[in-house]
Amino acid sequence: MLEKIKPRLQGLTIEKIVFLTGAGISAESGIPTFRGEEGYWTVGSKNYHPMDLATNSAFGELPDDVWGWYLFRKTVCHRSQPNPGHIALARFEEVLGDRFLLVTQNVDGLHLRAGNSMERTYQVHGNIDFMRCWNECCLDLFPIPQEVGTMERGQKLSAQQRELLKCPKCGGRSRPHVLWFDECYDEERFRFQSSLKAAFDCGLLVSVGSSGSTNLPTQMVMGAAGNGSLVVDINPERGPYARMAEASGGVWFQGGAGAGLKALAQAMGIDLR
Ligand SMILES: [Zn+2]
Repeated sequence: MLEKIKPRLQGLTIEKIVFLTGAGISAESGIPTFRGEEGYWTVGSKNYHPMDLATNSAFGELPDDVWGWYLFRKTVCHRSQPNPGHIALARFEEVLGDRFLLVTQNVDGLHLRAGNSMERTYQVHGNIDFMRCWNECCLDLFPIPQEVGTMERGQKLSAQQRELLKCPKCGGRSRPHVLWFDECYDEERFRFQSSLKAAFDCGLLVSVGSSGSTNLPTQMVMGAAGNGSLVVDINPERGPYARMAEASGGVWFQGGAGAGLKALAQAMGIDLR
């Protein structure tokens, strides 16, 4: 599939290359999206739907329970390992240096664990390993302290955990560093404008495991294709980005992240080992 566009890929010697990843790449590590049954969370006698918990207003009412749910999700993420797709992206960054940018919709932190740098990884929906001040005394991101430990389904937040989850700067309440359903993308926390600009200015945009159901990634793919960049869509399912990729002169690679990125590297003449 990628052989077809090999001359164009090999002609990209100085241009920027943007990789955009979605839930598909994490699913290959066994991480659920937490938007279905696996994401339900019981508080008292009520069973909460993930869409109802992942909001700033739910956090305002039930901070300990929302924190408990995120610590549970973080625990699940940490029991998974980066897969060949994540590892390939870390190698792409090593080889491409400043020509590389990764924009990820995933909050599981697996790209950073695989070796991608914080500077070149725009985590547009946040990262479950970090917290920030709920009162916004600052915009700093703080790693969630190791001592907070793990959280199992049904477990309640302990007093000790609550203490550890205070904002290190002002001592007030901190919150998970994730984009909630009742919040908007912004530049300061989520690199919104920078992500769009990178997509508009790149020579190649590679979408990996993204379903095309969220706003920013769709704007990025449309912007790249509309601005004359080559778009490649790596996805086992044919989604909306496949058509946009083909319209840009690129291709849809039907397959998983690991296989797709390996084939891309080969077609570009890059050695990923
Ligand atoms: Zn604070």
